[in-house]
Amino acid sequence: MLVELLEEYFQREEPHRERDYFYVSEVGKCPRQIFYTVKGFPRPPIDGQTARRLAVGEDAHRRIVQALYGLGIVVAAEVPLPSGALFHGRADAIVSLSGKNYVVEIKTVHPYNFDQMALVPRRDHYLQLQLYLHYFQIPQGILLAENKATQELREFVVELDHTEVRRVLSEFEALRELIFVRGELPPLPDKSDWEFDQCKYCPFVDFCRENVSALSPPAIHLEPHERASQVRGLFDEL
Ligand code: SF4
Repeated sequence: MLVELLEEYFQREEPHRERDYFYVSEVGKCPRQIFYTVKGFPRPPIDGQTARRLAVGEDAHRRIVQALYGLGIVVAAEVPLPSGALFHGRADAIVSLSGKNYVVEIKTVHPYNFDQMALVPRRDHYLQLQLYLHYFQIPQGILLAENKATQELREFVVELDHTEVRRVLSEFEALRELIFVRGELPPLPDKSDWEFDQCKYCPFVDFCRENVSALSPPAIHLEPHERASQVRGLFDEL
């Protein structure tokens, strides 16, 4: 009774926004998935359980930032990257410790991933923090991870890594040219570098399998139930 009502209540569509930039959270993501997202390809709505899980993560961020304020060490919170940059995003906080500023990136992590991060941070988290360090010109940062199941905390203090930042910026400059200027579908990525099988959770797997690179314009403006039949129709024609 209530479960069905709540599932429906929490379920939501991801709004599509026209853009010519990337989000910091897209570092480490499959470039094809980024293409399908920015081009507004239809995807299933976020189901209720996933929406609630995301809300728990957002609550944890707020709780931790509030505690940092309580400690009196926050210099700024929710700090946006400079406008016009290749990447958009907001650093969770900048704190001051012993006279030094640190960018703090907070991550709530599945218990399995938390165990995997015993010695080193997750690579995509590390690279995201590197971008904040680069854009804010702050030479050090702290990746703070909270175990979603136990609320155990773990931190990694990292230094600005110019080589990695240059590599990521050059990779995404090339992707920007491919996706936003030429409008081309990126080639299938080298999956050997992935930390988990992104294809397993990809909402665009059917488009990708068929190398679909464009939708007929009306598809983007259809209602959700109409879009589903549009997608089915698209594959009927292939
Ligand atoms: S199916 Fe895999 S390779 Fe294709 S877009 Fe999705 S994540 Fe990328």
